Amino acid sequence: MTNNDKSRSFQERVDAIPPFSTRRTRFDRVHVAETNNRGLGVFADAPIKRGRAVGRVLGDLKSADFRSHYCVEFANAVLEPKAPYRFLNHCCEPNCEFIEWEIEDQAESVLGETPRGRKIFELWLHALRDIQKGEELTIDYGWSWRFAIPCKCGAPTCRGWICRLDELELCLLNRGVPETIRDKSS
Ligand SMILES: [Zn+2]
Repeated sequence: MTNNDKSRSFQERVDAIPPFSTRRTRFDRVHVAETNNRGLGVFADAPIKRGRAVGRVLGDLKSADFRSHYCVEFANAVLEPKAPYRFLNHCCEPNCEFIEWEIEDQAESVLGETPRGRKIFELWLHALRDIQKGEELTIDYGWSWRFAIPCKCGAPTCRGWICRLDELELCLLNRGVPETIRDKSS
């Protein structure tokens, strides 16, 4: 089987997964640039429709106990993403989310040691709503309150902490109201 055949069969599978009818040429139309107040961020180079795949998140797989500011839980392990998606910022009202795809591999290894039908896991970034060209792409980091840091996302419903919503009460109880919110109310 040639590489071309392999990529075509993958693309067919991508197109077959509803509602993510995506075209390879539309992926990764993003760039990394400086934000106003949160270091680097990822920005859309073209409009993206709600539900569409923005791009595949590539990176290095680490053991489940690995921790970093960028890492994502993935396929019973942890993925340390590479650029550009390494630079996705958190927002309390995110416009994107990570989706773990489970794909059945149709390719047969030349040596025959990879059985057909093996499950492949991939991490993809998808749009949660329609996104305009030039908009910053953001996700909800969903961190435990123990790792929470003050949030500067500026969303009307900002939680104040980069913390998963169901642990926010616990976070406020243990760590108080962060400066970013205190400044706003004064
Ligand atoms: Zn926020």
